[in-house]
Amino acid sequence: MGVVHFRGIVIQENQNGESSKRLLVLAKGVGRVTFTARGAKNTKSKLLSATQLFSYCDFQAYEGRGFYSLTQADLIESFFGIRMDMEKLAEAVYLTELVEKTCPAGMEQDETLRLLLYALTVLEKTTMPPRLVSRIFEVKYLQLSGLLSDEGCMVCGEGTAPLFFNESRSEFLCKKHCFGGELLLLGAVQRAVAYIAEREGRQIFSFTLSEEALAQLDHILRRYLEVHMGVRLKSREFSKGL
Ligand SMILES: [Zn+2]
Repeated sequence: MGVVHFRGIVIQENQNGESSKRLLVLAKGVGRVTFTARGAKNTKSKLLSATQLFSYCDFQAYEGRGFYSLTQADLIESFFGIRMDMEKLAEAVYLTELVEKTCPAGMEQDETLRLLLYALTVLEKTTMPPRLVSRIFEVKYLQLSGLLSDEGCMVCGEGTAPLFFNESRSEFLCKKHCFGGELLLLGAVQRAVAYIAEREGRQIFSFTLSEEALAQLDHILRRYLEVHMGVRLKSREFSKGL
């Protein structure tokens, strides 16, 4: 009980009654935190802008019995520029939903928080294709979640020779360990995955891919997320229809 402080980003906002919101925040040092924000939907509320999806804030809350009631929020970054572009917005909505659906509760998620902040910053401030931002996020997020090795072949670790993707098992394999019917990775896709896996921070968002390579990476990661993370989100496909 008492006053608590969190720094974090709103990854889900829901209406809670007439004028209030329920927020899910990914907070530094603690991971997922749910807040109720009374009156946050009132246009005159000081909490209005700080309680929107993607808002990165210093939150102050009152801790009750198993709940947090938001009392103050100081906006650090709104990522408002993302809302000016439908494709950027679609990808940002997808990324926050992916984190909301898959990041475990009850433990700090600081690396995921940092990754999400980098991805939203790149979406807002740069001209990198939004769908590429999401694919880079997915590779790093799978790696942080312990679901994607930075080695090559799942069996022997071979990473320099061309790799193949086994769709049913959703595994990367070298030629020697293929079962048959695997998809040969484009060189650019194999290099992109290795590049992301080997680096940290914002620099992972610093390369381009051809349409063909981006399409293959997209195809592989859709299957990878489905098999290893158990998610298939409609929001992932939304920007393709734009
Ligand atoms: Zn192998």
